[in-house]
Amino acid sequence: MDDIRILSTSGLGALIDELRQRGYQVMGPTVRGDAIVTGEIRAASDLPQGVGDQQDPARYRLRERGDGAYFGFAAPAQSSKPVFFPAEEVIWRGRRDNGEDDHFTVERDTPDTSRKIALLGTRSCDLRAVQIHDTVLASRQYIDAHYAARRDGTFVVAVACSDPAATCFCASMGTGPRPSDTNPQTGEPSYDLLLTEIAPSDPDLHHFVLEVGSAAGLEVADAIDTTPATLDDAHEALAVTSHAATQQSRAIDTDTVADTLRASAESSRWEEIATRCLACTNCTLVCPTCFCTTVSDVSDLTGENAERHRVWDSCFSEQFSYIHGGPMRESAKSRYRQWITHKLSSWEDQFGMLGCVGCGRCITWCPAGIDIVEEAAALGRARGVAPTPATAEAG
Ligand code: SF4
Ligand code: SF4
Repeated sequence: MDDIRILSTSGLGALIDELRQRGYQVMGPTVRGDAIVTGEIRAASDLPQGVGDQQDPARYRLRERGDGAYFGFAAPAQSSKPVFFPAEEVIWRGRRDNGEDDHFTVERDTPDTSRKIALLGTRSCDLRAVQIHDTVLASRQYIDAHYAARRDGTFVVAVACSDPAATCFCASMGTGPRPSDTNPQTGEPSYDLLLTEIAPSDPDLHHFVLEVGSAAGLEVADAIDTTPATLDDAHEALAVTSHAATQQSRAIDTDTVADTLRASAESSRWEEIATRCLACTNCTLVCPTCFCTTVSDVSDLTGENAERHRVWDSCFSEQFSYIHGGPMRESAKSRYRQWITHKLSSWEDQFGMLGCVGCGRCITWCPAGIDIVEEAAALGRARGVAPTPATAEAG
């Protein structure tokens, strides 16, 4: 058996303390307003204990679970994307030097990385999304230096997902609900520690099965109080994610979807979707893998100082494809086609993997309730590719 231990619920606070003492800024799920988002976790009380969620197309609600579970919800409204890839950041600052030759000095802005990040409670879909961003933003010829600086030295405490929402389909994408031990791109450990929460109705039996995934994880696990796990404990942890997988009714057929999108450029389905799509950009903003940005230059009133900001953009905005006198994708039809085709087909050509991790956020947060799973299935049906039974149910 691998290194598997039992962590008590009070040990969760000790784990957070240990990470903070080691200098990490712990970032994890927390309730803000009526949603679970990513924020700084200073103590276990910052976690959404006893809070569950209900997610359906165009619907997100928090609910009282009636138990003390700390991680009893599905994909939070916000993934960990903004931790490493903020919605807006300064890239460089320019200052006019009114000397004899009246020139500008340009200084590159560098992110504050004095405190390394520890992700706590990251579920499998979001962990896979971080790995996809690592490939896209930090593993190619030109890297995003800000992203890479923030990602450097990250400690990951992943959580096995126990309560998927009706919008989730990670099981079909091969991205959850249990995180894989290793990053399929690099072969490196996916997480330092993995928690599976066992939260039966008897609060005295509430605990975590803790699995060590890396040397850094072993150091932290050895520094907090744990007890050895038995084979039964290991099986109980596996049963949590096996059950979670069976709860998912949506599914995408990853064997056929890329070809389906490639063959569907002229489908009449795009016109039909365009009658519903508001081109609001929500789906791209909540998506943990979307990474498109634009730049915005601002100067102060004196004209002496200027800044270039990098800001999240979206392929659903008309100006995103503006090039040489006009946008290439003027219609909502062409923008939805671009988005779903990139996610489920051309991303594979570009990066060797699909760009969707099955978190379901784009379904939950689309005000029109447009469902990527149903749209992929409809395009498949038009090609005569039979949907899986689970997809048919989801429709
Ligand atoms: S496309 Fe939708 S389901 Fe897939 S990763 Fe993005 S938000 Fe999640
Ligand atoms: S698919 Fe939905 S969330 Fe995305 S742009 Fe259209 S209306 Fe907005």
